[in-house]
Amino acid sequence: MKVLVINAGSSSLKYQLMDPETREVLAKGLCERIGIDGRLTHKIPARDAKHEFEIPMPTHAEAIQAVLDALLSPEYGVIKSASEIDAVGHRVVHGGEKFAASALITGEVMAAIEECIPLAPLHNPANITGIKACQAVMPGVPMVAVFDTAFHQTMPAKSYIYALPYEYYEKDKVRRYGFHGTSHKYVSGRAAAMLGKPIEQLKIITCHLGNGSSVTAVDGGKSVDTSMGFTPLAGLPMGTRSGDLDAGILEYLMNRYGYDIKEMLNILNKKSGVLGISGVSSDFRDLSDAAEQGNQRAELAVDAFNYGVKKLIGAYAAAMGGVDAIVFTAGVGENSADQRLAIASGLEFMGVKMDAQANNVRGRETVISTADSRVKVLLIPTDEELMIAMDTANIVNQ
Ligand code: ADP
Repeated sequence: MKVLVINAGSSSLKYQLMDPETREVLAKGLCERIGIDGRLTHKIPARDAKHEFEIPMPTHAEAIQAVLDALLSPEYGVIKSASEIDAVGHRVVHGGEKFAASALITGEVMAAIEECIPLAPLHNPANITGIKACQAVMPGVPMVAVFDTAFHQTMPAKSYIYALPYEYYEKDKVRRYGFHGTSHKYVSGRAAAMLGKPIEQLKIITCHLGNGSSVTAVDGGKSVDTSMGFTPLAGLPMGTRSGDLDAGILEYLMNRYGYDIKEMLNILNKKSGVLGISGVSSDFRDLSDAAEQGNQRAELAVDAFNYGVKKLIGAYAAAMGGVDAIVFTAGVGENSADQRLAIASGLEFMGVKMDAQANNVRGRETVISTADSRVKVLLIPTDEELMIAMDTANIVNQ
């Protein structure tokens, strides 16, 4: 089976054509500058080939057509006919409370995704545009929506409710939704497979640490709490996002500097996080280099981030009444041995014993705790595209 995975942003579109059973990626790439001019980067992993084209892309429809043309090209294509694409899986950021799982895209499902636009005003419209463009270019091919929020819909009310007047939840849907659900679901499933135990019997804490970061408590295969909230601004300090803070700070700074709410949110989203603390960079590689050269604010930024992750691990272990495995994934989680060690050190009291040598690894599934560690610590590279393709195949084959 061949599934085309589409992740459409406002001016970009990522794609992968893959076989969810063999996990082989036939081709993948990126359309950029949609609505401006248009550029396509198309890669074929099996041939180690990369092709770049300038193609006019006034809208997402031309971008999707360019992707299809590339996939079908006699020269750098990987399929002979568009009919070889059995299904398309679309990443959709927000499914609100309507979607607790991926869904076959029907008129009704499209309307429900549109209803979620106020919850994700930047992302859902781009995702919808991507779906419509695919439907126009590939009529009749089944399409599935895979939501970033769906995995977290199993959270109990006590985890998702904010302590605000209840009407804001009832009328305005203000609650914790959580994000990165596709990644947390994928790595928790892989963790159970690596441990050789049914996921129903495991308590797992998944740490998705990248430019955007979130930690999730997965009890018996279900998300029971997660650190992102109503928006992806909540939880840990991130590359440029503040994470949780005292809402009183907003009024204080807005009064002091005369910011309006838009300026304030721009500061919280784009100028805060580890970039804000360090003044150096949002990239953890730059921060560790700067810290090594004695930059104390860079060191503080990394310390504050690691400490935030450690506190969430403690909180979620308490929430679940224990923990069997801690998983590290995404850019930082997969690559930074130092940060994994810093986060897990000091957790020996709860049965975590890191194996410094095993931890000296990058980007491949590895147990990084000692053999006698009661809590297993795992490095698991995330693969959101594969998860989307697997969900899509499951739904289309039902
Ligand atoms: P996104 O949230 O954009 O998907 P990623 O999961 O790709 O982000 O993570 C990107 C981040 O991973 C980069 O900003 C960088 O800070 C971090 N990263 C990548 N490689 C390393 C490394 N070797 N050491 C520390 N951090 C790394």
